[in-house]
Amino acid sequence: MFSEQLPHYVEPRKLADQGVLISGQTTVAALPRFSDFDQSQAEAVSVALTFERDPDDGQRIVHGTVSAALVMTCQRCLEPVTCDVTAQVNLALVWTEEEISMLPERYDPWLVTDEKMTLATLLEEELLLALPLVATHEQCPTRLPEGDEPEASASDERADNPFAVLASLKGSQK
Ligand SMILES: [Zn+2]
Repeated sequence: MFSEQLPHYVEPRKLADQGVLISGQTTVAALPRFSDFDQSQAEAVSVALTFERDPDDGQRIVHGTVSAALVMTCQRCLEPVTCDVTAQVNLALVWTEEEISMLPERYDPWLVTDEKMTLATLLEEELLLALPLVATHEQCPTRLPEGDEPEASASDERADNPFAVLASLKGSQK
């Protein structure tokens, strides 16, 4: 269920032409593709997305953040671990495949239509892309059998650093 501030449907072209900030909260339960996250359904999803025309090139864009605390399974101890997942959104609206190939590299394409679109679909896609590949506790609650301290790099790869996440996304989409 969406809070008052978040519209259920959006018309991306219209919003970008008007220059609109959409911000507010919903819950993980409002995102059907996250129905597997049993323990996260009541968690808040915070949304702050600006739709506008790029002042330089006139491109219709949407940028901002979508974030949620998601309970995942720690890959070291297999206990639940809460991951703060933040998607850094930086999309340009495109209507055709051809426009995608012409898009400046600084944008990721968002293929839209001029029909109303469900906001939840965009939130889902962005959050799914931002999920850590491997979820781990910074420090697992139970001792590991061999007493091996995890390498520092394991926690560095978590979603804490949005730029690292973006970099890995750009790589994986190619
Ligand atoms: Zn753990």
